[in-house]
Amino acid sequence: MIQNQKTVIFSDFDGTITKRDVIVMIMEKFAPPPWEIIKDKILYERSITLKEGVEKLFKLIESKKKQEIIEFVKHEVKLREGFKDFLDLCNSKNIDFNVVSGGLDFFVEPVLESFKDKIKIFCNKGNFASEKISIDYKYLPKNCMLCGDCGCCKIEIIENYPKHAYTRILIGDSLTDLAASKVVDLVFARGDLIKYLKEENISYIPYNNFFEVKEQLIHNQLIKN
Ligand code: MG
Ligand code: ZN
Repeated sequence: MIQNQKTVIFSDFDGTITKRDVIVMIMEKFAPPPWEIIKDKILYERSITLKEGVEKLFKLIESKKKQEIIEFVKHEVKLREGFKDFLDLCNSKNIDFNVVSGGLDFFVEPVLESFKDKIKIFCNKGNFASEKISIDYKYLPKNCMLCGDCGCCKIEIIENYPKHAYTRILIGDSLTDLAASKVVDLVFARGDLIKYLKEENISYIPYNNFFEVKEQLIHNQLIKN
């Protein structure tokens, strides 16, 4: 790693900052059973795109459930150990912590409410104007060849921090982080992401919590202690 580069963090939300995938938690609680078929098509068969898949999932839920969903996530979602500690460290070292999520603002933001001054959140917005929940896209890929048809292009968000000036770190857990793993300098992986990275021969550091991420970054001198 080049010494005068600045470190920047890009972290997935569902199953990365949170212990469980919040979209899955919401579906289990609020969606009719066909949601599992859609989930399998997105993640395992890979027969529908991430964008189409998330759209289909939220189309299963009535817009009037919005407030109930917000209360549910505020009470039920648990964060991965060490998140607050790691965020405090990043803040004290002036390292940007970007949350890049294929999820939607109405459940990402309430969960991260108490950290909002220490992070930047990039995600699309829930739209409740119709009977069922739809999506207002803010981060569709404009010119990205790598991720295909995703609803939130993590790569184009990462490219706002040019490679020559930054050491770019990605933290993720699933298929939704695979494309972004190809453009960053270092990947922290858990869950299914490990399997996908192995298939494509992309190197990574495994992690279980943010204490381990912190230790590794200090060890690799990407954060000075
Ligand atoms: Mg995830
Ligand atoms: Zn992209």
